[in-house]
Amino acid sequence: MSNNKWGGLIKQQGFAIILVDGQNMLVDAGKNDSVDTIINYLKTNGVLKLDYLVGTHLHEDHIGSLDAVIKNFQIGKFLMPKVATNTQTFRDVLTAVKNKGLQINTAKAGVDIVDIDKLSVKILAPCNTAYEDLNNYSAVIKVKYGDVAFILTGDAEGLSESEILESKADIMAQVLKAGHHGSNSSTSLPFLNAVSPQYAVISVGAGNDYHHPHQITLEKLKKAGVNVLRTDEKGTIIFATDGKEIAVATEK
Ligand SMILES: [Zn+2]
Repeated sequence: MSNNKWGGLIKQQGFAIILVDGQNMLVDAGKNDSVDTIINYLKTNGVLKLDYLVGTHLHEDHIGSLDAVIKNFQIGKFLMPKVATNTQTFRDVLTAVKNKGLQINTAKAGVDIVDIDKLSVKILAPCNTAYEDLNNYSAVIKVKYGDVAFILTGDAEGLSESEILESKADIMAQVLKAGHHGSNSSTSLPFLNAVSPQYAVISVGAGNDYHHPHQITLEKLKKAGVNVLRTDEKGTIIFATDGKEIAVATEK
């Protein structure tokens, strides 16, 4: 196995995902109250610099601790979808970006974040520029290392999933992070069939107020023969791959 590693770190409804292959990338940073957890996790794993940092969309459970991450680490490229919202959490992120002298690169379909040797990181969505629901602005990211692909969906819902299908992007992947914490708003059957994953990761807090993951999503995944890994049951879920085989580990 190489050191290419994809891990989910979750507290409550928040989540953060790390990729390591000489370069580090963090996708989302969890809730405001996950600050210590995420900073300690990154430091424990020897991360000093985040070459790429993505805020998938502006909800607090995704960007709550982003300001602290920006303050505490050297940041290479920062990407977020082009949309604004009137929350203190969002203002805190903008202030951190400004204080650090960072630029915000627009996360949208067609952007290639990384394309080096065996590793590519592409943004599949958002495909459009205006949505009613903030969730559909979610940056949906495909990470491919050799023959092994992962899709990270943020909280993208059925509408965004159908736009991704229409875009004809290659979305086959062995690992799917199920959209919107396993909500029935996401993981539509045509999307699931097109991705056709071996594993689905559901990033979800135990006993959350939204009753995520929804039963209908779990049944859909079960019927499709997908191996489901839930962070409320397993803790942190880590995938390692050499570009051919996948190894899964969990850390409570
Ligand atoms: Zn969320």
